[in-house]
Amino acid sequence: MKLTPEQTEKLRRQLARLANIEDGFYAKKFGGANLGYDDPQADFEALPFTNKDELRDVYPLGIAAAPEEKIVRIHSSSGTTGTPIIIPYTQKDVDDWAIQFKRCYEMAGITNTDRIQVTPGYGLWTAGIGFQLGAELLGAMVVPMGPGNTDKQLKMMEDLKSTVICATSSFALLLAEEIEKRGIKDKIHLTKGVIGSERWGDKMRRRIANELGVKLFDIYGLTEIYGPGIGMSCEHECGMHCWDDYCYFEIIDPKTGKNVPDGEFGELVITTLEKEGAPLIRYCTHDLTRIIPGECECGSPYTRIDTLIGRTDDMVKVKGVNIYPGQLEDVLRDIEGVSSEYQVMIDHLNGKDIMTLFFELELGYSKHDVENAVRAAIKSRIGLTVEPKSVSIGELPRSEKKTARVFDNRY
Ligand code: ZN
Repeated sequence: MKLTPEQTEKLRRQLARLANIEDGFYAKKFGGANLGYDDPQADFEALPFTNKDELRDVYPLGIAAAPEEKIVRIHSSSGTTGTPIIIPYTQKDVDDWAIQFKRCYEMAGITNTDRIQVTPGYGLWTAGIGFQLGAELLGAMVVPMGPGNTDKQLKMMEDLKSTVICATSSFALLLAEEIEKRGIKDKIHLTKGVIGSERWGDKMRRRIANELGVKLFDIYGLTEIYGPGIGMSCEHECGMHCWDDYCYFEIIDPKTGKNVPDGEFGELVITTLEKEGAPLIRYCTHDLTRIIPGECECGSPYTRIDTLIGRTDDMVKVKGVNIYPGQLEDVLRDIEGVSSEYQVMIDHLNGKDIMTLFFELELGYSKHDVENAVRAAIKSRIGLTVEPKSVSIGELPRSEKKTARVFDNRY
């Protein structure tokens, strides 16, 4: 996907502004580079990438590109280890985020008569407040729950007749299972679910959709850019439309750093076009996806990226084969009797890599037959021999956070 003339102009303005910030992050990094008029695309693709570690290195506010009096808020990435990343926002950044988030709801057909139960967390993390701002701009009623407290979530859902649930896929699954267990499905009024764009398989999607009785939509975003809300799936469920008047989306080969043609998988790299507080140029997301070529049936002109297939850093090499959890999920979802939850353990025993694949077996299936089917399918489709181990439904951990599925015990 090449830069449009509008995107090129926005970038020129942004780069010129960044070059003039005394001691600024990009003034130092790019030495005042801008896009020429002969081949702006080539000039842009020659700019170095921006990585998470660089943002950590300038903790806390070294990325700020607006004067103190214009900064109204910060958010921070949820980083589990080491120094967090702080992203400052101006009022325009906050407003622009809400505009994009409102578009997401509209893409899903959500209106001002909906009641939106927000379960992602509030606070330093961008999630909850983004869901809330977009919903308020839309004019819908927000039920601002934040995460956890299943009893209260279900009570509010019943009493306030929430029509939309916003959640991570693991928390949506947990709520769906609880509704099923308590037999209260007829008291639930949900029609739509907006699910954070972690990698999740079709099988899990179908379970959540069936048990909650909702149509599901994927929302995309990351704290470093605005937060969730920079892209959203439409009713045709073919990737996520991304708001390319606010950001420019590239896909690169994570090994070579070169752009790949539309349609090919690689790492998503994002450049903000409008941001004031913390503009980012060629920011490496580590998310693996592709740009879907062609027009969507819904008629939306916005660029589509495919459902994420994993993270560049999730990639593990076992017996010389590169594996992404997303590939395993794709294989598992086609096998009858395998539920949506799985976990991978990689060990090194007697000089050999051993990959054990735990999965939940659906009721009424033979353990032996399904394990054999899993072994054969992974051998033929990924080229790797695994040790399949089935467990009962509910035995693998569910969590309200993004669930870690791959445990590499070799190092
Ligand atoms: Zn569409």
